[in-house]
Amino acid sequence: MLPSFFESVLQLIVRTSTDLPPDVRAAMKTSLNAEPDGTRGAQALTIIAQNIDLAVDNEGAICQDTGMPTFEVKVPVGANQMWMRQQIREAVAEATRRGKLRPNSVDSITGKNSGDNLGPGTPIIHFDQWDRNDIEVKLILKGGGCENTNAQYAVPVELPHLGRADRNLDGVKKCILHAVWQAQGKGCSPGAVGVCIGGDRTSGYTHAKEQLFRTLDDINPDPRLAELEASIMSTVNSLEIGPMGFGGKVTLIGCKVGALNRLPASFFVSVAYDCWAFRRLGVVLNAATGAIDHWLYRDPSNPIIPMLDQAGFTRTGREVTLKAPISEEQIRSLKVGDVVMVSGRMFTGRDAVHSHLMKHEPPVDMRGSVLYHCGPVVVKEGDGWRITAAGPTTSIREEPYQHEVIKRYGVRAVIGKGGMGAKTLAALKEHGAVYLNAIGGAAQFYARSIKSVDGVSLLEFGTPEAMWHLTVEDFPAIVTMDARGNSLHKDIEQESGQHLEEIGV
Ligand code: SF4
Repeated sequence: MLPSFFESVLQLIVRTSTDLPPDVRAAMKTSLNAEPDGTRGAQALTIIAQNIDLAVDNEGAICQDTGMPTFEVKVPVGANQMWMRQQIREAVAEATRRGKLRPNSVDSITGKNSGDNLGPGTPIIHFDQWDRNDIEVKLILKGGGCENTNAQYAVPVELPHLGRADRNLDGVKKCILHAVWQAQGKGCSPGAVGVCIGGDRTSGYTHAKEQLFRTLDDINPDPRLAELEASIMSTVNSLEIGPMGFGGKVTLIGCKVGALNRLPASFFVSVAYDCWAFRRLGVVLNAATGAIDHWLYRDPSNPIIPMLDQAGFTRTGREVTLKAPISEEQIRSLKVGDVVMVSGRMFTGRDAVHSHLMKHEPPVDMRGSVLYHCGPVVVKEGDGWRITAAGPTTSIREEPYQHEVIKRYGVRAVIGKGGMGAKTLAALKEHGAVYLNAIGGAAQFYARSIKSVDGVSLLEFGTPEAMWHLTVEDFPAIVTMDARGNSLHKDIEQESGQHLEEIGV
């Protein structure tokens, strides 16, 4: 067998999880330069840039949601695919043991996390044969927040703000614009979309995701699709959804479109949305040894250039200090747009914790507390724990529960990303609480605000879903929903919807 194959795949996984490819870095640098200094978008991108640098410096996960590992492998005729599949699975488990991937594979019936990223359907591994003598392994790690914003349209279809999308390229353009508008900041914009025109429901999504293996700066060889991609990129940023959905100039960093033949009766447009944490790399391996011959997407003569040439997030002096437990009076004085620095005790809680709190008292006193929608990457050290990646998760999933949690248990601040809906907004006003938007994917940046892990409850839900008791210091976030009934998310959605109507496809 190939003695270096396992080690090469492990290197690929670690590098993909911790070091963004040059084309994505370049696009993010361009985005950073496009947002005017001092705006919410520029602040978000500065934190993201700092996070990208921290991840590569410390070989830490760029985002705590290390995503669904999806491998595309090309092998010479006669290669033993069963053995390679097993080696890839073992490399995934080893990367998880080392804290480079978060345990992300959950039994869909019992909700139990397998703990090693292995299970039915995880990881995804596709094999293809080719007539070359080497082996190519490509990997993409696409997180759940952006996966949840994928969209598939069966055209013709009526779309809000855009009217009817017909079975032609204008109709396809409307579908793509609608998908990006609908995603708002929930997929951690600025993102990139892979699109498939045609196919069936299954092949359409697969082909859309495959488009994300193209580099952001390539040009589609089909001139019709090249024109569509350019047209999307020139119009989509005028929607002013902006980084994290905060409003701003940059909403997308890439649009890549492919096409498959379809049945006469079907016309699907499938859109795969990937976030700014666009983790995709590849290697070409020697077919006799499995050793890495060269990396894909990386030019070895091109060293990694830091995203930032200074310290990163800098204070303006207008930041508001919040120290938990927080009083109702202080919460009611905050307004949308305020930047806060949170210190003191913070509890994490996401899907399993919220569902649990509907039927059980909380394991801790939550009055005046800060509840962080976060599923961190945690490593055990002796008797204690260390958090190595801790960005926010998508908050809207907790919308069915959040108002009850605020009402029953006296939570004063909820931190997450992407915003929440009308029920939560009403509860914030009625009970005196705020929603704080942290910067999605900035897992390394926020891990450094955590000064200690003081305990954990509900660990039976698995490490991402447990309730971690943290002490944080100067954890920056932006008030995007206040206790006066204001929501930046609602405003941006309405305004960008208006822009969609004005574009007039
Ligand atoms: S950057 Fe955002 S959408 Fe992407 S994997 Fe991280 S949390 Fe999910």
